Amino acid sequence: MSAAATLALVRAEPHVSFSAVSTYLKCPRSYEMRYVRRAPAETRPGSLVFGSAVHEALATFYDALREGKAAPGPEAMGDAFRASWARQLAGDVPVLFDEKDTAASVEDAGVRLLACFCAQAPPPHAVVDVEAPFAIEIADPDTGEVLPERLVGVFDAVVRDPDGRHRILEHKTGARRWTEDRLAYDLQLTAYSLAAPVMGLGDAAVVVQLLLKTKAPALERYEVARTERDRQDLRRVLVGVLTAVRAGAFYPVRDWHCRGCAFAGACVAG
Ligand code: SF4
Repeated sequence: MSAAATLALVRAEPHVSFSAVSTYLKCPRSYEMRYVRRAPAETRPGSLVFGSAVHEALATFYDALREGKAAPGPEAMGDAFRASWARQLAGDVPVLFDEKDTAASVEDAGVRLLACFCAQAPPPHAVVDVEAPFAIEIADPDTGEVLPERLVGVFDAVVRDPDGRHRILEHKTGARRWTEDRLAYDLQLTAYSLAAPVMGLGDAAVVVQLLLKTKAPALERYEVARTERDRQDLRRVLVGVLTAVRAGAFYPVRDWHCRGCAFAGACVAG
């Protein structure tokens, strides 16, 4: 079964995605708009569209290796990025760029980032899976109750070292290096560490591959570790968010996120 078909099957059951949880934590009203009212997005942030096009290009890189083909070079990666970028810009929902950016400048940055990736990314020993969906049960760490929803997500790529240990690769783009605190507390990475053993990957390492949109593009790699306490904390966050959602706690959090919010008009209109 393809990854897309598996994901569709998983999403047919009660579930919550990490990105839904993250949306709730930033602004519960935005969660309500997207996941409860299913309001149409008014805009899409350019950074999100950019990240998605980079992800698509990187998936073609790891897919080729998984199939035993040669690693695509900068030209092929640039083409994959441009194709995804153009397709996404052609969508109905307008893309919001930062003041200093244009579609052409962002496209150019993407092509240069992917060339940097080709030059700097260490070739994996073996690629096991690409865009691999997961679904795991959520148990309340305090009561032991198993919630009806499963936590679902997608590993960008899963690779295997010569000693058999797996690594889950998470691709990010950004303008700044991650701080130690961000690496220590990022809940998405904790979710991967929770899902890894359930998905047959044992104590897989989680590796962030950050493509830095700096003047001279760079690839930073961070391997993160998580403890059982981190995973317990995440379970508490999941239970807390789902309890709040069931209670209809959808209050607005007005801050800098409002500026690029896809539901700003509907939010103000009530
Ligand atoms: S405009 Fe602000 S408060 Fe309203 S949904 Fe968006 S992020 Fe939340």
